[in-house]
Amino acid sequence: MTKPRVVIVGGGFGGLYAARALAGAPVSVMLIDKRNYHLFRPLLYQVATGLLSADEISGPLRSILSRQNNIDVLLGEVTGVDTEKRVVRLEQHDVPYDFLILATGVQYNYFGRDEWSRIAPGLVSLSDADRIRAKVLLAFERAEELAALESAQTTSIQKLLTFVLVGAGTVGVEMASTLAEMSRMALAHDFHHIDARSARILLYETAPRVLPSYPEVLSAKAQRHLEQLDVKVYTSTRVTGIDADGITANGQRVPTDTVTSIDADGIIANGQRVPAATVLWAAGVLASPAGRWINSATDKSGRIIVNSDLSVPDHPEIFAIGDTAHVVAHSRNLLGIKSNEPMLMPGVAQPAIQEGRYVARLIRYRVAGTKPPGPFWYWDKGDLAIVGRTYAVADLRFLRFSGFPAWLIWAVVHIYFLIGFANRFFVLVQWGLAFLTKRRRVRVLPE
Ligand SMILES: Cc1cc2nc3c(=O)[nH]c(=O)nc-3n(C[C@H](O)[C@H](O)[C@H](O)COP(=O)(O)OP(=O)(O)OC[C@H]3O[C@@H](n4cnc5c(N)ncnc54)[C@H](O)[C@@H]3O)c2cc1C
Repeated sequence: MTKPRVVIVGGGFGGLYAARALAGAPVSVMLIDKRNYHLFRPLLYQVATGLLSADEISGPLRSILSRQNNIDVLLGEVTGVDTEKRVVRLEQHDVPYDFLILATGVQYNYFGRDEWSRIAPGLVSLSDADRIRAKVLLAFERAEELAALESAQTTSIQKLLTFVLVGAGTVGVEMASTLAEMSRMALAHDFHHIDARSARILLYETAPRVLPSYPEVLSAKAQRHLEQLDVKVYTSTRVTGIDADGITANGQRVPTDTVTSIDADGIIANGQRVPAATVLWAAGVLASPAGRWINSATDKSGRIIVNSDLSVPDHPEIFAIGDTAHVVAHSRNLLGIKSNEPMLMPGVAQPAIQEGRYVARLIRYRVAGTKPPGPFWYWDKGDLAIVGRTYAVADLRFLRFSGFPAWLIWAVVHIYFLIGFANRFFVLVQWGLAFLTKRRRVRVLPE
C-alpha cells in the first residue's frame, strides 16, 4: 500500500517544524521551497548591518532534513494549487498530495505603491540584507568621497549621512538602534574626512508609539533608549509618498519638526527639506498569495482564515500555518494560565513553529485513524525586542522588564532556536567579538 503523500510548501519556521515533526511517520513528505535554505529571520537585521554573515543564520534545507528518510526536498516555486485534482503546481511539474500544508509566509506590503520598493527596500530575504548593507556602507563611502573633495557641499554630505526607517515595529526598532550604534561605534574611526558618528537616524511610525504591539510601558522604555542612542523618533506620522526623490509623511498629529515629505534627495520637514539618501522600509506586510491558489477566504492582510484545527474550511486535507494563516486560538502563558479570550496569532516565529508541530500531529492521528487532538492552542512565551547592543524589552505576559536582563534572555532564546550547532557556535563567537571590539565584521562592498 502506498503511503499518504504530505506536501509542505515553504521551509520557513512553520514548514520546517512540520516536516521535522513528521519524522518516522507512515507518510511520504515532500517539502517544496523556492529557496534551498531555511532562514532564521530574527537575526537578518544583523546581516543587514554587517555583524553576521548570511551563512551564519541560514542552512540548506536538504542537509537539515537529511536524516529523515521519509522526506524529499524540492527546490521550486509553487504557482498554484488544483484542489479538485489535489496537485500543487510548479512551473514544470504537478506534485500530487493527500495532505497539503501551506506555510509560505509574507512579503512586504507597500500599500499598493510597489514602485517604493526600489527606493526603500524591506528586509525579508538574504538578498535584501545584502542590498541594505551595501546601500548603508555606500552612503558612508560617498560621503567620505565628497568630504575629501574641497568643492563638496555640506548639504550633500548631510543627505548621505541621513538614514530614514519607515515603520517602528520590531524590525524598524532593531534596524534603527543597530544603525545608530554602527555609526557611533563600528564606523567611528574608519573615515578621515567625515564624522560617521554624526549620521542621523530617523524613525517614522504611523501609530502613536514605537513597538505598537507591546505594552505602553515597554514602548516608552524602547523609545527612551532609542533617543539615548540619538535616533530621532517620529510617531503618529504616516508616510504617504516615496519617489526617486524621497518620501512624504503626513501625521495625524504633526509636531513642529515632523517630516511631511521624503525623497531620494531627502525628506521635507515642515516645508523644509532634510536630505536623506537611504530610506528603508519596515512597515506593513502582506501574506503570500496562497489564499488565492486555493480560492479560500482571507483577511485584509491576505491570510487564509482557518478552522480551529488549522484546516481550511471545506478542505480538511489542506492546512495553512504561520504568517500566511489567520489563526484565532486560546493561549496559555509560561505559568500555564489560560487566556480568557481567544487571540489572533501574531506574525512571529513561535506560532508558526507550534502550528507546524500541531498539524504534523493531527496528520499522524488522521493516518492512524485514531481520535485527533483537540483544537490548536498557543503556548504564549511572550515577546522580546532588541533595542541596541545590550538592551531589550521583554513582555512575558505575567512579567515585563527591560535592559540587560531582557537582552540576555533574547540572546539565549535566539541561540537556542538557531538551526545547527555550527551556526550557534559561530554566532556566539561573532557576538562576543563584536561586544569586546565594538566592530562589525562584514563590511566589504560587493563589486
Ligand atoms: C526582518 C524580520 C525580523 C523578524 N524578527 C523576528 C523576531 O525577532 N522574532 C520572531 O519571533 N519573529 C520575527 N520575525 C517574524 C518571523 O520571521 C515570521 O513570523 C516567521 O518566519 C513565520 O514563519 P513562516 O513559516 O510562516 O514563514 P517564513 O519563515 O517566512 O517561511 C516561508 C517560506 O516559504 C517559502 N515560499 C514562499 N512562497 C513560496 C512559493 N510560492 N513557492 C515555494 N516556496 C515559497 C519562502 O522561501 C520561505 O522559505 C521577523 C521577520 C522579519 C522579516
